[in-house]
Amino acid sequence: MKKPKIVILGAGYGGIMTIVNLQKKLGASDAEIVLVNKNDYHYETTWLHEVSAGTIHQDRSRVPVKNLINTNKVRFIKDTVVDIKLDEKRVLLENSELTYDYLVVALGYEAETFGIKGLKEHAFTITSINAARQIREHIDYVFATYNNEVEKRDELLTIIVGGAGFTGIEFVGELANRVPQLCKEFDIPREKVRVICVEAAPTALPGFDPELVEYAVTQLERKGIEFKIGTAIKECTEEGIVVSKDDQVEEIKSATVVWAAGVRGSHVIEKAGFENMRGRVKVSNSLLAPGHEDVFVIGDCSLMINPETERPYPPTAQIAMQQGGTCAENISRLMKGQKELSEFKPDIKGTVCSLGHDDAIGVVYGRKLFGSSASFMKKVVDNRSLFLQGGAGLVLKKGKFNFF
Ligand code: FAD
Ligand code: NAD
Repeated sequence: MKKPKIVILGAGYGGIMTIVNLQKKLGASDAEIVLVNKNDYHYETTWLHEVSAGTIHQDRSRVPVKNLINTNKVRFIKDTVVDIKLDEKRVLLENSELTYDYLVVALGYEAETFGIKGLKEHAFTITSINAARQIREHIDYVFATYNNEVEKRDELLTIIVGGAGFTGIEFVGELANRVPQLCKEFDIPREKVRVICVEAAPTALPGFDPELVEYAVTQLERKGIEFKIGTAIKECTEEGIVVSKDDQVEEIKSATVVWAAGVRGSHVIEKAGFENMRGRVKVSNSLLAPGHEDVFVIGDCSLMINPETERPYPPTAQIAMQQGGTCAENISRLMKGQKELSEFKPDIKGTVCSLGHDDAIGVVYGRKLFGSSASFMKKVVDNRSLFLQGGAGLVLKKGKFNFF
């Protein structure tokens, strides 16, 4: 009898955790499992702000996919997903195509620029290893350029970060640590460098605990980060950005604009014709796409409403990883002909936001943390995530042990 074919698209948190769980549930003869990813490595998306700032090397945050999967049970294809023909149960890749019996779409997030003029052309985004690496190398380049120009241009040393959500705050936290190193490396006085975080909402980290937000902003300001709160980026140009606050428009010159002010699901979701909101599919409690009994959508490409707040759960690695477990369970139930599927209920343990390698804020199991205890917890969270994906070996290879 032909083995059912399970195709998983994306080797991020959701995809890898689906594989890890499927490998435990299924023998090599039970199913043909195929994993597709555009790179032959998985990366820790949650560390990309560090790669972008240059506080860790890109290789620290990536792992060859073959080190995370059992190649006796899973076939890996390095290719880019171009489209999904849902009616024909076919996936089109750049270089080939695949059919499936069960499909898991876990293609992650892309930057959402809300149609703001010039962002796509002139701003950087923290969206992949190569995007992060480009930010790091661009900053190195403009700092190196500064002293070699006859007329010194301050905009070379001005870094704009759009958005003071968790990504924006974690990135400026890393920059606060990195800038003094850069100044030393490139013979630049620290006071010449400006890092400006621009946030449209009336507060940084909108919706987070106000006491912790105040701590974060104070700490970052102390390290030289400037905040423009209640200020929206309206345009990005070759020269910098245009912002507006209370109808006052201002232009800020900068050679480095990093847009960290919004995410959406994959464009492949839209292309494939799924019912979606900004590339995210509102999935059932069992993580199936509406109208499909064989297509699961998980991670940042999925959308689920939190019944307590009646708002969508935020797209997080924590949820993507847990969804991988439910998704694997439901595929194995469907393969056994079971009608009743497991319902996904996120078990949200908390949120920890780093402010550089030595400081953080967080709420864990309802308890507020800040400073070194929060920073310790952030590293525990990062190491736990590695453990779930690749066991103790991966923690030993890539883990964060610089606790103090
Ligand atoms: P991803 O982990 O992004 O993986 C998607 C994978 O699909 C990638 O490997 C990508 O290369 C691949 N892919 C994409 N398109 C294609 C294609 N067309 N063809 C083939 N392959 C493709 N969440 C937390 O819970 N805690 C945190 O501390 C945290 N920190 C974060 C820090 C930063 C800087 C950022 C940007 C996000 C952070 N998040 C955090 C959010 C979290 O990273 C995402 O929610 C999570 O990565 C989503 O997992 P995923 O599996 O859906 O996608
Ligand atoms: P976000 O949507 O959470 O935050 C974006 C911020 O940009 C918001 O505060 C918004 O008000 C602001 N903004 C939007 N348009 C703007 C404009 N025109 N000008 C200035 N500011 C503007 O996005 P994110 O921070 O990238 O986070 C994405 C997801 O990843 C979230 O679910 C988040 O929880 C998760 N994440 C978690 C962590 C963590 O747990 N440590 C870290 C990073 C990201």
